[in-house]
Amino acid sequence: MTWYHPGMYDAAKPAGSIWEETAPPLPAGTDLGPCGDETCEVAIIGGGYTGLSCAFHLASEFSTDVRLLEAGTLGWGASGRNGGFCTLPPSSLPLQSLLARFGEAEAKRFIFSQLEAISFVRSFAAKQGFAIEPQGEGELHVAHAPSRYAGLAEESRILKEKFGISAKLLPREEVTERFYDSREQFGALLMPTGFGLHPLRLARGLAAAAARAGAKLHGASPVIRWERKGADHLLVTPSGTIRARRVVVATNGFTRSPMPPALADRIIPVMSNILVTRPLTDDEIATQNWQTESPCANTRSLLFYYRMLPDRRFLFGARGDTTGKPEDGARMRRYMERRLGEVFPGWAQVEITHSWRGFVCMSLGGTPSIGSLPDEPSVYFALGYHGNGVAAAPWSGRMLAQVIGDKEDFSAIPAAMRGVPASIPFPALRGWYLRAALGYYRLMDL
Ligand SMILES: Cc1cc2nc3c(=O)[nH]c(=O)nc-3n(C[C@H](O)[C@H](O)[C@H](O)COP(=O)(O)OP(=O)(O)OC[C@H]3O[C@@H](n4cnc5c(N)ncnc54)[C@H](O)[C@@H]3O)c2cc1C
Repeated sequence: MTWYHPGMYDAAKPAGSIWEETAPPLPAGTDLGPCGDETCEVAIIGGGYTGLSCAFHLASEFSTDVRLLEAGTLGWGASGRNGGFCTLPPSSLPLQSLLARFGEAEAKRFIFSQLEAISFVRSFAAKQGFAIEPQGEGELHVAHAPSRYAGLAEESRILKEKFGISAKLLPREEVTERFYDSREQFGALLMPTGFGLHPLRLARGLAAAAARAGAKLHGASPVIRWERKGADHLLVTPSGTIRARRVVVATNGFTRSPMPPALADRIIPVMSNILVTRPLTDDEIATQNWQTESPCANTRSLLFYYRMLPDRRFLFGARGDTTGKPEDGARMRRYMERRLGEVFPGWAQVEITHSWRGFVCMSLGGTPSIGSLPDEPSVYFALGYHGNGVAAAPWSGRMLAQVIGDKEDFSAIPAAMRGVPASIPFPALRGWYLRAALGYYRLMDL
């Protein structure tokens, strides 16, 4: 367990998101419910995008006998409750640091793989015939203060020169005229890639496709003990056990015991919080001159991310709650309501109908981690998408399936995403490190 309030891990509790009210239910027979005593070739722990995509590809491409165990309902974790930004990149590192750390060739491989991840989500949904409500073309990175515009210009230069990506730098006036106005809008970079989607539709679509392909998916099946039985793994749940040759850990920010310390002690779950308003009227929308369906994120280190949903509700996200206690969730909601009104004064009085939160997953390296454990090669993992897993997690699940199915080897994974996360000195102190980091970022954002 981590330092967060246990209520954050209560998988019987719905997230409280707008998505739960608007997604079609899972087709009957997709979720087989609590598992009994079974054996299989590959057992996957975690029923979010990573686990479901891995299950789908193992079953459909390699006819693998695969079972997935999810503590809650399928998609209960971050996959069913995120902001729906299907955008670049799954990393906390600035482009310059990516280039310096991995070299130009590997930095390119990483970014290009994640451009492919964005297209993969769209084409997967189309091929499997489910709707994800795509919105917008591209993503706006918005300068929240005049001093941040120069940083966007530099980002635009690197994107063009090193990656061949033409992102358009837009001065404040042009953003006001074509996209929206706000007290914290001082120009923006329009990324040509990315779009918004309905995250729970994606999770349920992946689940339905995986079940159709032959994967056995068990909701309400938390793994509470993990033992070795000779060459096999035995995963124990309250209702039964799964014995498997290989195990995939796909638990990301919601990772709880019993997970190998080489993963559990090296990740940093960070809370992300979302508010959604009631549908806005034409007059209200006009107060901020809002005209875009593209997702937007600003340049704060503790970023605000926002977008207009198809029914004209405004979604507003932020980070900063470090305990998961109910009272801190309520405090965070009050803070976000106030900040929403300050950033978009025209909407200061608009009723908030939904608020929820969940874990994203960070690591010290600043990029995702995909691979198998060096001392337990039959244990595979993909996690640590740094708050940007809508595209990266389905892609990573597929990549793991291809490695497990021997279609690819680990060298197919860009170096920036390959191998276990970096170790963290004194992992028990992670909650304190996080509070210190958030305090620092708050200062940087002033
Ligand atoms: C509020 C919020 C907003 C976000 N917004 C965005 C966004 O707009 N764009 C973006 O790209 N990313 C966003 N993210 C991040 C994104 O949702 C994640 O990166 C992605 O969903 C990770 O998918 P996953 O399958 O790896 O993990 P998850 O979807 O979190 O799934 C992990 C699952 O593992 C299960 N689990 C854990 N332990 C066990 C166990 N012992 N036994 C059985 N099951 C277990 C959990 O119940 C959970 O359902 C957001 C996340 C949050 C929380």
